[in-house]
Amino acid sequence: MFDRLLNVLFVEDSVADTEIGLLSLEASGLKVLVRRVETESDYLLALRDPTDIVLSDHSMPAFDAKRALKLLREQGGDIPFIVVSGRIGESAAVDMMKAGANDYVRKDNLERLAPAVRRELGEAENRRRARLTSDKLQQQEQTLDTLMHNLPGMVYRLRRAGTAWHFDFASDGCKDLTGYDQEMLVGGDGLDLTKLLYGDAGQQDELLRQLEAEGQFTVEHQILCSNGDVKWIWHRGAAVKGPAGQVLYVEGFLADITAQKMGQTKLDYLAHHDVLTGLSNRTVFEEELARSLERVKRHFESGTLLFIDLDNFKEINDSWGHQSGDAVLRIIAGRLTACSRKGDIIARLGGDEFAIVMDDDQRTEDIARNVPRILEEIVRPLKVQGREITVSASIGIAVYPANGDDVTTLLRNADAAMYAAKQAGRNTFRFFAKKMNERAKSMVVMRNALHNALRREEFELHYQPEVRLSDRSILGLEALVRWKRAPDRLMTAEHFIPFAEDTGVVTAIDHWVMRSVCMQARDWNDAGVPFGRIAMNLSAHAFYDPKVVGLLETCINESGVDPGQLEIEITETTLMQDMIATRVTLEKIADMGVTLTLDDFGTGYSSLNYLRRFPIDRLKIDRDFIKEIPWDEEDVQICRAILALATSLRIEVVAEGIEDQEQAVFLHHAGCGTGQGYLFAMPQSAEDCVELLREGHCTIDPSRVAKTDEDGVPGGQFRL
Ligand code: C2E
Ligand code: MG
Ligand code: MG
Repeated sequence: MFDRLLNVLFVEDSVADTEIGLLSLEASGLKVLVRRVETESDYLLALRDPTDIVLSDHSMPAFDAKRALKLLREQGGDIPFIVVSGRIGESAAVDMMKAGANDYVRKDNLERLAPAVRRELGEAENRRRARLTSDKLQQQEQTLDTLMHNLPGMVYRLRRAGTAWHFDFASDGCKDLTGYDQEMLVGGDGLDLTKLLYGDAGQQDELLRQLEAEGQFTVEHQILCSNGDVKWIWHRGAAVKGPAGQVLYVEGFLADITAQKMGQTKLDYLAHHDVLTGLSNRTVFEEELARSLERVKRHFESGTLLFIDLDNFKEINDSWGHQSGDAVLRIIAGRLTACSRKGDIIARLGGDEFAIVMDDDQRTEDIARNVPRILEEIVRPLKVQGREITVSASIGIAVYPANGDDVTTLLRNADAAMYAAKQAGRNTFRFFAKKMNERAKSMVVMRNALHNALRREEFELHYQPEVRLSDRSILGLEALVRWKRAPDRLMTAEHFIPFAEDTGVVTAIDHWVMRSVCMQARDWNDAGVPFGRIAMNLSAHAFYDPKVVGLLETCINESGVDPGQLEIEITETTLMQDMIATRVTLEKIADMGVTLTLDDFGTGYSSLNYLRRFPIDRLKIDRDFIKEIPWDEEDVQICRAILALATSLRIEVVAEGIEDQEQAVFLHHAGCGTGQGYLFAMPQSAEDCVELLREGHCTIDPSRVAKTDEDGVPGGQFRL
């Protein structure tokens, strides 16, 4: 500090004495800037400028050291004051020192001046530094205090007392965090840390072990609050050790992380579970399956994978809404859980697909015995929002590692087996067999091909007349879809509609048919071609599509056809899938004035009872029963029974697939009014139909008549 220029203020009436003083200071190597004052007013003025030290004569004519010292001290600060006097006596010097002077130097002993100045300046500097440090400390202490008491957590100090740890200090946050007041925690008989820790009993020992080994710990654990709540805590502690290295105190910080933890727990749950059903989700399922696969391979055992797909879930969703659909999934999940065994992994893979992994070595016979029980559980009627619904499922079974030694292959094969179960009529199960994969592959190819066909407009409609059996007059036509796969290759519906149904493409096809039929009816109306009525076939998919009624209305409105000129055919199986939804849709269609026909009658449930409950106008006896009449006695009886019942219900009966005259004669005699089949006309293009329609009746194909017409009259009158 003595390198810089020192501001020295002389309070001295003698210029010469000031000079001498200055010289003695400079002689000692100090660099000095001197100002001299001899009155009080000048002195006060001078003190406004930077001053390092005041050197004052004891008494002057207009001023004195005592007064100067007083004024200086009144100003505060810590500027050293040295009395430099010629005549000062011992007692005056002592007085001055008592009054706060830092030293005194006699003018006849000026060699003391420079050391005194150096010493006092040095000490003033030390005092200044000390003051600074203490101010800083105080500030820091304050900041810490504020922080500690406002932290959303608790700062503490624990003192070791034997095996117990008592709180020595706890910040204000303790009340919020633990529910205990500071007084209850701190103090000799305050709370022991163990009372706060919740859960694992060995926690405290573990913390102590870490403190001794590493001097600190950071853990997350739970605490028990005064009101019994349990909270998650982030806890960091550091050891204060004694000379022998033993832990005497722990100082640390606790923060409440319950909210984050709960969020995390929920996230963890969501990441592993299907939210709707609470079952494992696909990710967990695949991990578990992979683990199981590894395990059985290691032990030369086998495991079983069941791939479960609900059969009619889409219809439930479409007709009852998603809430009902969700409820059904939850109930099915519950049933699957209830009928599975400990150790089985049950998952929802998505939509209406579930899977079960059975990790234990089971024999095929056992699996084949157990799986039907699952199917029985699923098919038990369930109640959703006051309605009774029945759901069935198709189950594919893959045994591993035989049917695949990685997760992807296994799942694919179980899926193919499930598909085979669907094909086998649903509500059943199938074990995987290699040929199923080829089928699955061809399904994919077919689906794409059908979509492309729609896009490229490769479908066309053929029309087959329905005739009055008594005179072969044309009552109407049935539209049958054809797929023009190449200019000379026309595929009939029976060869692709089943695929279209399985792949879901059928709905789009049926929509196209609906529009095309209406346009054709309009064209024939415009051209004055009489056609009676045109029937179109609706698949279950299209029928249960909630948009179907609206679409039909639109087509009718846009084409301007009379709804009485249209007819819709649905099969028994379609009708039975969901009785309530069916009824609603059928009534809407009937209200429009469109005729409703039950197709392929006799192949499904054949319950004439429901005919009464639905607005059905006509039924078509399935071709299978017509084929062998009048020779097959059983079929004859069936046809008679159907006719008798339908007549009593005032439902018109149509016989389809009539190929020869004997069939026609029999049916006519049995009371069947209408027939359809190759005997009368093949399904044919709209243009080819025109001539027939204008004539108004069908002529019998001579080759077919020849079979039974004894007179051999080609194209002869229909004989009864
Ligand atoms: P379906 O509604 O029972 O139609 C009658 C089927 O029998 C037609 O086959 C028809 O060509 C055939 N057929 C008519 N008369 C005779 C006969 O005397 N002898 C024999 N052996 N067969 C006869 P197609 O066109 O192959 O249709 C098969 C099935 O495909 C239809 O049975 C119907 O269920 C379905 N289908 C046809 N067109 C459509 C459509 O546009 N949409 C939907 N969803 N299904 C359709
Ligand atoms: Mg039909
Ligand atoms: Mg039919």
